[in-house]
Amino acid sequence: MATGYLYHELFGWHDTGTFTGEISADPKKGLQPYSNFEHSDTKRRIHELIVVSGLINHLVRIEPRHATEKELLRVHTQRHIDFIKTQSDSRLGGDAGDLTTPFGKGGYEIATLGIGGILNMVDAICTKKIRNGYALVRPPGHHALADFGMGYCLFANGALGIKHAQEVHGVKKVAVVDWDVHHGNGTQDIFYSDPSVLTISIHQDGLYPLTSGMRSEQGEKAGFGTSLNIPLQAGVGNKGYEKVFDDVVLPAIRKFKPEMIFVASGFDSCVYDPLGRMLLTASGYAKLTKKLMEVADEICDGKILMTHEGGYSATYSPFCGQAVLQEMSGKYVLDDPFAGIVDTYPSHEVNLVQEQEISEAAKLVLDIP
Ligand code: ZN
Repeated sequence: MATGYLYHELFGWHDTGTFTGEISADPKKGLQPYSNFEHSDTKRRIHELIVVSGLINHLVRIEPRHATEKELLRVHTQRHIDFIKTQSDSRLGGDAGDLTTPFGKGGYEIATLGIGGILNMVDAICTKKIRNGYALVRPPGHHALADFGMGYCLFANGALGIKHAQEVHGVKKVAVVDWDVHHGNGTQDIFYSDPSVLTISIHQDGLYPLTSGMRSEQGEKAGFGTSLNIPLQAGVGNKGYEKVFDDVVLPAIRKFKPEMIFVASGFDSCVYDPLGRMLLTASGYAKLTKKLMEVADEICDGKILMTHEGGYSATYSPFCGQAVLQEMSGKYVLDDPFAGIVDTYPSHEVNLVQEQEISEAAKLVLDIP
């Protein structure tokens, strides 16, 4: 069965304004105006490589559509929806909440176009038109809370997809694997007391948000045990991530037995990312994808839906996206030209600190219901 793929040029028109990387430009401080790290190039170039390499010919295009307000209300408050909409209709756009999540005029319509596309992809997977799929959407979603936008995220894209699968298709249990370098705090918060969704986040310890993503955050009430955090010191490479999957992520999924797996796919855990300090390479991401596909085949008919999150290296993110989609579809049309440089770093080996962090996280699997 086929692999679905979602992208629309309008996603590239989401305007994050003039910044100097991740802070406001300010000539008085020597901060020359430039672009935001969250910039359309990092996603547009993934799409263009998928087209240029010919991989696109092996994928089933999923059409986007605007998610309705009723669909957004499955996760978000009316206040938050109105807050985004009002600013989106204004002359200059606005900010989703934390003052580092800017969007231009019409930002609401761009965000809802991606979300509706994700819901279409959920429909296609649940009705077995496709086996799995990758939604290359922008803006991202895993930091957004029910009532607050933050960390470049306006709405909780992945969480909205999960609610849709549950309400429309009767899917009961879902697991989320978040391999973005930052903590998937929004997804975790939305399902913190919900025993039907297992959220697993692998992230660089203490990066963003500063105050969340600790191993002690395990969910609450009926949802205790269904939030699983795997914080890791900076510098983890391919073999370290593979060990995280073998020792923690896959056993957690096997124990929870979801009917569908969502992936919050950030390529900011890659070796060239300006915002993260991890060392994953395209071949590393491909191996993690393969492992997830094996467990999905075993447990949930291969149902995996990836939503795109971070990833800020305009040069290297495309090869990570290409590698993941090649693995998902089983069509290998292009090798990573950087592999000869980045796959040979000695730091891909697992060190003692990493072993310790992974074995501590593995203990949390016992608490999964
Ligand atoms: Zn990120």
